[in-house]
Amino acid sequence: MPLVAHKPARPARRTCLGHPRIVADRSSELRKMIRSYPRRASRRLVLRALSSPFFPSLFFARNLRTLTTEPGWQRLPVRLRKASTLSLLLERSRFFLGVGSWREEHRPLPAAPAVPSAISEDSTITAYCDHCGACCEIASGLPVFPEGVLIPVRWQRVFGQGLGRWHRFCPFLWQERPEGRSFCAIHPWRPLACRAFEQEECVFLKMGVSPHAAE
Ligand code: SF4
Repeated sequence: MPLVAHKPARPARRTCLGHPRIVADRSSELRKMIRSYPRRASRRLVLRALSSPFFPSLFFARNLRTLTTEPGWQRLPVRLRKASTLSLLLERSRFFLGVGSWREEHRPLPAAPAVPSAISEDSTITAYCDHCGACCEIASGLPVFPEGVLIPVRWQRVFGQGLGRWHRFCPFLWQERPEGRSFCAIHPWRPLACRAFEQEECVFLKMGVSPHAAE
């Protein structure tokens, strides 16, 4: 039984499989969408998010690309697809800014809580993790966090339920521009499921095979 509730099996092209590294910055493309929001407040909010060097614009662009391969999305009328795309960006931006404010308010960031010994930290992670972010391209996961974690309960629920219908990567996945290296905005307080994702799972993911396929 996988700890992380990945979305149903994804075709290889939906992950970073075969892609050495995402290099292009997509924020300028996303900025073009801003003028389509009828409300000024929405335009300002999205602009603020996209102006951050940590907004996951590459993953957002990949999210949109992924949707184009999904029958449910393909069946939507064009007008609805456009409206849903704008909603996706607005929801992502709002949550991103909320997490950013929380991180600012809590500086220095609180120490990481104790983690059950059964979920040991993999000290070799820096040797194999290339920050491609593919392991965080999940819409939702098992929302079990270390005891004593300070992250708002509503966010823990968001991790469990996802940001919304068409979101295809974790609400806490950020990136560093311009390199596109991914990082977790709540890394010291991330859920237990994320800690259980180690080198073996990483290798399987990059091979396009679920390590739990035989279970
Ligand atoms: S909580 Fe952090 S480590 Fe876990 S899937 Fe989200 S971004 Fe990745």
